[in-house]
Amino acid sequence: MRGVVQGVGFRPFVYRLAQEEGLAGFIGNDTDGVTIEIEGAPERIESFRSRLRAEAPPLSRIDSVTFREVLPKQEKEFRIIASEVHGQVSTGIPADAATCPDCLRELLDPADRRYRYPFLNCTNCGPRFTITRRIPYDRPQTSMARFKMCLACQAEYDDPASRRFHAQPNACWECGPRLWLAGADGVEIPSADPVAACIDRLVTGEIMAIKGIGGFHLSVDATKEDAVTRLRQRKHRYGKPLAVMVRDLDAARALCELTAEEQSLLNTPARPIVLARARFNSGIASSVAPGIPWLGIFLPYAPLQHLLFADTRVRALVMTSANLSEEPIAIDNDEARDRLANVADAFLLHDREILQRCDDSVAAVVDGAPQLIRRARGFVPLGIPLPFDSPPLLAVGGHLKNVFTLARGRFAYQSQHLGDLENITGLDFFRESLAHLMHTFQIEPGFVVHDLHPGYLSTSWAKEWAAERNLPLIAVQHHHAHIVACMAEHSLEGPVIGLSLDGTGYGTDGRVWGGEVFIARRDGPDPASFERFAHLAYVPMPGGEAAIREPWRMALGHLHAAGYNVESPEILSLVGATAQEARIVRRMIERGLNAPLTSSLGRLFDAVAAVVLKRREVDYEAQAAIELEGCAIDESDDTSPYAMPITGSDLKRHIPARITLQLLWEGILEDLRDGVSQAQIAARFHSAIATALIQAASSARSATGIAAVALSGGCLHNRRLARLLREGLEREGFEVFRHKQVSPGDGGLSYGQAVVAAAILRKRKAES
Ligand SMILES: [Zn+2]
Ligand SMILES: [Zn+2]
Repeated sequence: MRGVVQGVGFRPFVYRLAQEEGLAGFIGNDTDGVTIEIEGAPERIESFRSRLRAEAPPLSRIDSVTFREVLPKQEKEFRIIASEVHGQVSTGIPADAATCPDCLRELLDPADRRYRYPFLNCTNCGPRFTITRRIPYDRPQTSMARFKMCLACQAEYDDPASRRFHAQPNACWECGPRLWLAGADGVEIPSADPVAACIDRLVTGEIMAIKGIGGFHLSVDATKEDAVTRLRQRKHRYGKPLAVMVRDLDAARALCELTAEEQSLLNTPARPIVLARARFNSGIASSVAPGIPWLGIFLPYAPLQHLLFADTRVRALVMTSANLSEEPIAIDNDEARDRLANVADAFLLHDREILQRCDDSVAAVVDGAPQLIRRARGFVPLGIPLPFDSPPLLAVGGHLKNVFTLARGRFAYQSQHLGDLENITGLDFFRESLAHLMHTFQIEPGFVVHDLHPGYLSTSWAKEWAAERNLPLIAVQHHHAHIVACMAEHSLEGPVIGLSLDGTGYGTDGRVWGGEVFIARRDGPDPASFERFAHLAYVPMPGGEAAIREPWRMALGHLHAAGYNVESPEILSLVGATAQEARIVRRMIERGLNAPLTSSLGRLFDAVAAVVLKRREVDYEAQAAIELEGCAIDESDDTSPYAMPITGSDLKRHIPARITLQLLWEGILEDLRDGVSQAQIAARFHSAIATALIQAASSARSATGIAAVALSGGCLHNRRLARLLREGLEREGFEVFRHKQVSPGDGGLSYGQAVVAAAILRKRKAES
């Protein structure tokens, strides 16, 4: 059996099943899963087979089962064998899982010996990845090693009939980790009930740093405007939305309008933060998520969090990663005291060490299906299937929202979300996580895969690391990696029409790509190749990277390219720029100084948001685009899109078509003059983009006969755009493929890099 079947209580489950069916044989771990041998009466074996899937433990995931008959051995009993069965043992570490219903019942049951114990867990729940130092996943290799189990816990651990049989972090009041309160100076404040003391402080508006599963959270009462504002000021985080934790689904429904899919996503064992439509007047402070109609909400996933919400005084808590701006999340008690002394008013600490930093995951239901925005706690390090065998390799990902991938055999292991690789702290986190995952899965990469961009820190790091180890390098184009990631999730060999839509990626012509229509293949003739069929017309990005933080620059770049005089009074007032700013930008563009050309769709969103919403600057990447999407949320699709004609395309001469933007800008400016609402302009803009891309896909189909479309890139986080594209493409008879387990944004990039590299290596091998 392949899938997530190790460290999730699978062997004891199969043991119990075999006992109940009166079957003999054995079960053992092997490289990618488990091997089971079973012997007994045919009808019993049949029943065993069907129950295997139907009753599998909640945290397991069965990807495939292969059956083979062997000669009976006249065995009498069923055994769990510790040694390997086939090939190299890879006892992967499971992901951290939310407190299960059985443990929750015990936690709140005054008669239970673990009543209100903040660290209870069992085989079906609890920390895994974040407390494990190395494989095999056994207690001595985890940060639970220093806690010696008491007799009662040990008895459960040894009993195959117990829910805590081989539950590595098993603990109780008697023998396990403890919790305490500390002041801002880190000194313990004696308290009989640290949880109650923490709540006393939260309800008076204090900022608490609470040690969790994958790191510290900074927490305040989410209904208190002044507390939230104080947290933002101290954390130097101004615009970016903050996540809110609530007691249960009922409480979540009171804050947000939730679809059935969103409710089940909130309730999965990974307990991601889910971005959902916020209700008006729900009592949540408006500074929690300013300027957007969504709220990031999640449910308690650790016993300590359940204890906080067991108190009726607590309704909704801001729970945000404890760090300053873009630093990695703090995990160590001393580290937290050092880094957060000026942010938190007090600390809730414990003595179970966190060995792997892991932020909360972020997801959303986009066009009816769950989509990961940030893949971290609860998902890492679960293997993602690969479409074919890969040699051991490392793909380092991109620049922003970095995630690396280690591939081997039929699985890719993605790191947790590591954040932006812009400085040494980010790179340290990258190194720390890489060493841990290489060790965990015993993967020694034979190849290093990186982005084409020569300036990325990840690229220069990859080159250095490969040189030290004498390993060959493979470079993969950014948008090609996005599309191949989506293809690989569906085992597509291609060719497909790939719509690769995002903010920034280095093109083969040295320009900044991001609004791309590809003809993409995974395999031959050259797996590294793709055809650029069409792209958004190039416009200048005045100031380079500065244009990302200051959308007014992008707006002037676009308007200049569309033929407008950017120093005219009308344009100045539209964009909110001074005459001097416009003059400097015009000179930059005309002299080609620090004004790289881009075909980015993300930057077009920024420019339109700058003009329509008067959003001059942003606090985080894509803020303007997100606000533009939010602004259109209640508009119907029945709007006449702006015209975006496509010109010139010659596949034979490798000249891509260009999606032109002059008429789009003419239309937007005319609507603004006519007093058309922001919401309607935003909706018409979304429709225009979708219509133009669908037209480009149709031309690509006419030229090639290909009718499959893969959608990828960070712009696919935009629900309205994702839905319009899928609906429109299906109406035109296309088959549409979207991401499932991997993020469409840059978090999914390294998975695509790994697949492109594996395809190249497979081809080389076949040829030699
Ligand atoms: Zn449990
Ligand atoms: Zn105990």
